[in-house]
Amino acid sequence: MLKKYASLRDAFHQARGAMGNPFDVTFDAILSPTTARLGDRTVLLLGTNNYLGLTFDSACIADATEALRQEGTGTTGSRIANGTYGVHAALERRVARFLGRRDAMVFTTGYQANLGILSALAGREDTLLLDADSHASIYDGARLAGAQVTRFRHNDPADLDRRLRHLRDRPGEKLIVVEGLYSMLGDTAPLREIAAVKREHGAYLLVDEAHSLGVYGDHGRGLGEVAGVESDIDFVVGTFSKSLGAIGGFCASDLPDFELLRLTARAYMFTASLPPSVAAGVSRAFDRIDQQPELRQRLKLNAERLYHGLRAAGFVLGPVPSPIVSVRLSDPALAMRYWNELLTAGLYVNLALPPATPENQSLLRMSVSAAHEPEQIDRAVEIIAAIGTSLGVRSAMPDVAAA
Ligand code: PMP
Repeated sequence: MLKKYASLRDAFHQARGAMGNPFDVTFDAILSPTTARLGDRTVLLLGTNNYLGLTFDSACIADATEALRQEGTGTTGSRIANGTYGVHAALERRVARFLGRRDAMVFTTGYQANLGILSALAGREDTLLLDADSHASIYDGARLAGAQVTRFRHNDPADLDRRLRHLRDRPGEKLIVVEGLYSMLGDTAPLREIAAVKREHGAYLLVDEAHSLGVYGDHGRGLGEVAGVESDIDFVVGTFSKSLGAIGGFCASDLPDFELLRLTARAYMFTASLPPSVAAGVSRAFDRIDQQPELRQRLKLNAERLYHGLRAAGFVLGPVPSPIVSVRLSDPALAMRYWNELLTAGLYVNLALPPATPENQSLLRMSVSAAHEPEQIDRAVEIIAAIGTSLGVRSAMPDVAAA
């Protein structure tokens, strides 16, 4: 059965033999949101998506622990079969209140939120218009939906408009799907322009705020809040696995009859619900986002520090700072070597290789946390720059293109 992966196996073994396998780093201990132990070394984490550093928040841990003691380790089934716990219902009310929406549905992961919502919303007669750089969960949800799928050029509202014009006479509904902050390159969607196209064509709009919830906006509601287009967004999808520091996903909406999706979204119906401890901890994490805007401020300062540090070191980056920064390389072998040397020097970042990346680039992807100390960011910049120099990356400037 696995013969079809022969070429993958060769690459995998080559990577492992050469210098340790980037895809199975095993941390011996997680020490804090920004440090971990790997063997006898402490490494600095710069690739966690732990944007607000809430994984070690004492209030979240206290609420999760209390729920763990009171209600046990797991629900052992789906909400349709085993029933909803009070903490699930409370979390859904919390998500809806946070986003100012009528309803919210909670899923066991963010991946399942996209899978469940897209497949339940779009039928064969409907059309999904997906940004070309969409996350795998969006593509998989579209496939499960069986709807017609049209990809439009990444962050290009004019291309979206053109495609909707072509589809004008097609029966069924049109649903545009975009992300707020894109996970690989850290660029943001032009939501104001996309919302205008949506209105013009009478389409629906879903925004996946996986990386922007709790991170962007005066209240942390994401890119929709920043762009002032929340009323144009019909469905907000998000995850609890990044800024909220846990696991789980959601979709929130004002649409009447949104509740019906509980009886049609298979990724909701046929999988076990969140453990009560997670639901309780996440509810508290929303309180933290509400009560501690300084976390977002600290994250912003740290993102700017990394961005300006790398720019000063000669890296060509995107036009504005973002909590996600990627160094783009055209050669996967060089990227692997760079990644490995960073780890050897005590810095953990994400290695993203084709085909999981936009335009088949190899990426050293970093994500900043509010929990980073400024000195940690400075140290990371020093390490990245020193190894870049030794590998000739910074001198080979065209290799490191603008994000
Ligand atoms: N949507 C986007 C845009 C993502 O980047 C991710 C995770 N990387 C997901 C959904 C899935 O979220 P989760 O990891 O919580 O399943």
